[in-house]
Amino acid sequence: MTDFEKIKELIHNNSTFFITTHVNPDADAIGSEMALFELLKTLNKKVDIVNHNATPYNLEFLDPSHLIQKYYPEIHDKIILDSEVLIFLDLNYLNRTVKMEKAFRKTTGIKICLDHHTEPENFMDYQFINTDYSSTGEIIFDLIKNFKGLKLTYEMALPIYAAIMTDTGSFKYERTTPELHRKAAELLECGVNPTYVNDQIYGQYYFSHIKLLGFALESLSLNKTEEIAYMTVTRADLNKTGAIEADVDGFVNYCLSVKGIKMGILFFELKDGVKISFRSKGNIAVNKLAAKFNGGGHINASGCRLFNVELHKIMDEVLREADKFIHKTNDK
Ligand code: 5GP
Ligand code: MN
Repeated sequence: MTDFEKIKELIHNNSTFFITTHVNPDADAIGSEMALFELLKTLNKKVDIVNHNATPYNLEFLDPSHLIQKYYPEIHDKIILDSEVLIFLDLNYLNRTVKMEKAFRKTTGIKICLDHHTEPENFMDYQFINTDYSSTGEIIFDLIKNFKGLKLTYEMALPIYAAIMTDTGSFKYERTTPELHRKAAELLECGVNPTYVNDQIYGQYYFSHIKLLGFALESLSLNKTEEIAYMTVTRADLNKTGAIEADVDGFVNYCLSVKGIKMGILFFELKDGVKISFRSKGNIAVNKLAAKFNGGGHINASGCRLFNVELHKIMDEVLREADKFIHKTNDK
C-alpha cells in the first residue's frame, strides 16, 4: 500500500495527468475526479478527465465548466498513451472502464489507484486502497489535507461533500463515524450548502425517472423464503418512460427496505446483457456472491454485468445462487 507521501511525490515529479473512473459514474466517482482536478490545477498540472460515460444530468452541477469528457478512442487513446500519470478513482478492476481498458493496458504511464473497494486487480503501479473509507471522495479529502499549506477551497469541498453524502446514503451507512462528520463539518465551513447538494442530486429528477421507478416497484417480488426482494427494469420500461440507464441508480435500495428482507437484487436489462445490483444487510457478503458472476464491490453493495444472456434465465440462476448463499452464511 502506498502512502500519501509517495502519491504527493508522484504528483510533484510529473506534469501531465489523466483522471478516470468507472462505467456509469456516481457522485463519488465524479466528485472525486473534480476534487482531484482542483488539487492538480492548483499545483499547475495539465489534467484530462475522461470517462466511459457522459456525466449523469443530476451530477452536472459538480462540473459547471464541462471539463469531464466522454471517451472517444480516436481522440483519447493518444492522450492516454502520452500522459505521464494515470489516476483511477473509485475502481480497482480495469474492466470497470469497459471500452477504455485496452488503451490503459497498453500505456506505460504511471498508474495510481485511489479507491475504497475490496480485492483489487493488480494493474496499477501505486495504490491507496482502503475499505475503511466511506468513499473515494474522503480519500481525496485526506490527500488534500496532506499537502501542507494548501487551502481546501469551495471548488474542492463541494464535490467531496457530494461524494461522501451519496456513498454514505446521506450519512447513515456503517462508515458514518464521528471523524467523518468532522470532515463533513469542515466541508460545510468552506461554504458547501447541504440543502443545495441534496436538492441537485436527489430533488430534481426528470419525470421519466419517477415513472421508471413506478415500473420497477410494480415488478417487486419476493422469493419463496421471503428473504430476497428483487425487481426488474427492462428495455421496454426504458422505452415506455423515456428514461436513461443512469435513472436506475438507487432503485435497488427499495428492495432492502422491505421488512425481514436480507438481500435486495435488481436485474437491469442492458442493450447487450444484464446488469445485476446486489444489496444486503449485516454479514451477508454480497461482493462474494457478485464474484461468482465476475462482479465485485462492497460487503453490503455489489454488482456484476453479464453479456449475451437472457434476462429471465439469468434471474432464475442468480436467485437460486443468492438463496444458497444466504443459507450458507446463516449456517456459519
Ligand atoms: P451498483 O449496484 O450501485 O451499480 O454498484 C454497487 C457496487 O457494486 C459499486 O460500488 C461497485 O463497487 C460494485 N459493482 C457494480 N457493478 C460492478 C461490476 O460490474 N464489476 C465489479 N467488479 N463491481 C461492480
Ligand atoms: Mn465509491
